[in-house]
Amino acid sequence: MTNTLHIIGGGMAGSEAAFQAAEAGVPVVLHEMRPSVGTFAHRTGNFAEMVCSNSFRSDDDERNAVGLLHWEMRAANGLIMQMAHNHRLPAGGALAVDRDLFAQSVTDHLLAHPLITAAPGEITELPQDGHWIIATGPLTSGALAESIRAETGAEALAFFDAIAPIVYADTVDMSVAWMQSRYDKGETVEEQTAYVNCPMTKPQYEAFIDALLAADKTEFHEGETAGYFDGCLPIEVMAERGRETLRFGPMKPIGLTNPHDPSVKAYAVVQLRRDNALGTLYNMVGFQTKMKYGAQTSVFKMIPGLQDATFARLGGIHRNTFINSPTLLDNRMRLKSRPNIRFAGQITGVEGYVESAAMGLLAGRMAAAEILGRDLPPPPLGTAMGSLIHHITGGAEAKTFQPMNVNFGLFPPIDAKGGRRGRKDRYKAYTDRAKEAFNQWLAAQS
Ligand SMILES: Cc1cc2nc3c(=O)[nH]c(=O)nc-3n(C[C@H](O)[C@H](O)[C@H](O)COP(=O)(O)OP(=O)(O)OC[C@H]3O[C@@H](n4cnc5c(N)ncnc54)[C@H](O)[C@@H]3O)c2cc1C
Repeated sequence: MTNTLHIIGGGMAGSEAAFQAAEAGVPVVLHEMRPSVGTFAHRTGNFAEMVCSNSFRSDDDERNAVGLLHWEMRAANGLIMQMAHNHRLPAGGALAVDRDLFAQSVTDHLLAHPLITAAPGEITELPQDGHWIIATGPLTSGALAESIRAETGAEALAFFDAIAPIVYADTVDMSVAWMQSRYDKGETVEEQTAYVNCPMTKPQYEAFIDALLAADKTEFHEGETAGYFDGCLPIEVMAERGRETLRFGPMKPIGLTNPHDPSVKAYAVVQLRRDNALGTLYNMVGFQTKMKYGAQTSVFKMIPGLQDATFARLGGIHRNTFINSPTLLDNRMRLKSRPNIRFAGQITGVEGYVESAAMGLLAGRMAAAEILGRDLPPPPLGTAMGSLIHHITGGAEAKTFQPMNVNFGLFPPIDAKGGRRGRKDRYKAYTDRAKEAFNQWLAAQS
């Protein structure tokens, strides 16, 4: 093998990976198909084009997990954060940028780097040999996606995400909800009590259906069609098909007894299932939705037990190509079946510009280390990058794996007092712990 690193995709992840590897002294060839082959969302031929919002979200590195990820990327000499800072626009606590100046400056930096060569054009097949990073994003071209599918199997490559909202476990009101699997199924007590159940009376269910039908929804993007989503219908579409559809579908109350009031049978039940090995996150089973975020928060808070819930992420359905990383990748982001190939960015099952760039940063550093004859372990679990890579390469439930934003639910818990004040203090404790651990991880590389 040569010591050149090839990267497919010059988006958020590929651009950051190229910069990191080149800065480590490794020659990089960056393959990008735009502008000769386009996608429905990109407009230009620039690297790191922002396809929708011009914001990298919160820049609060003390009490916000995205802000902490910004901090870690800056500490690791991240190009995306550096260029974002240079082209920042006033946006309160958020890091918003002039998208054209930002993408142009990333492009100029990469093209000017002595160790980076741009290779325009679409790559249509998984490469056989050499060192590669695949960072082709949610809109990976069809031919390459087919080739990935041939390697990983159809089950392990998704073409859209259908994300059910995810709730922080410690914000569910367990004086209303209870833990039980339907018909107490399972061999162990843990299995028999695997789900959180939120009961509804008939009037509560009727009010919930009314709210679902009235809620603001987002439209499908051009290039997405409802046909993608057969078998995975948004809950509001199920409600449109009949007021009882949900009660006979994801909200069926059968096989469950409410220990808070065993004599009263719930009219409908919303079930939440554990979403990570730490047990800090629960997803709302079957609750994929196209409701706008504001509507989701108010409608879901009508569910008894979730009245004070905090959401680690809200639901959505989008065109999105991503692999089942928990089964396919090792913790160095290598494809287990073809370890000369790494994956990075949104295609690994993270979601968002920042998370994608962060995974590019790790993949670029790990690939460079390997080429230089070293091994780079992932950052510790208590850091934002470490929590994300741990989640996608092992911590997440493989069977229900869906793209994930960075959030404190992915971090090992820290003890702190409950309540609002307590939560703020806890977030600060998370970020303090993360910064120290991240600095140690960086120091070990120098
Ligand atoms: C419609 C839409 C709207 C979104 N809005 C937001 C938002 O507002 N905020 C947010 O944080 N995230 C948003 N996302 C998610 C966003 O795409 C990702 O967070 C981020 O851009 C992913 O980074 P990436 O590097 O993995 O992929 P991308 O940035 O998409 O980069 C992948 C690159 O690979 C190239 N490519 C694909 N196939 C090939 C091939 N075969 N050969 C060569 N090159 C190829 C593409 O042209 C592209 O440049 C949105 C996604 C979509 C699809």
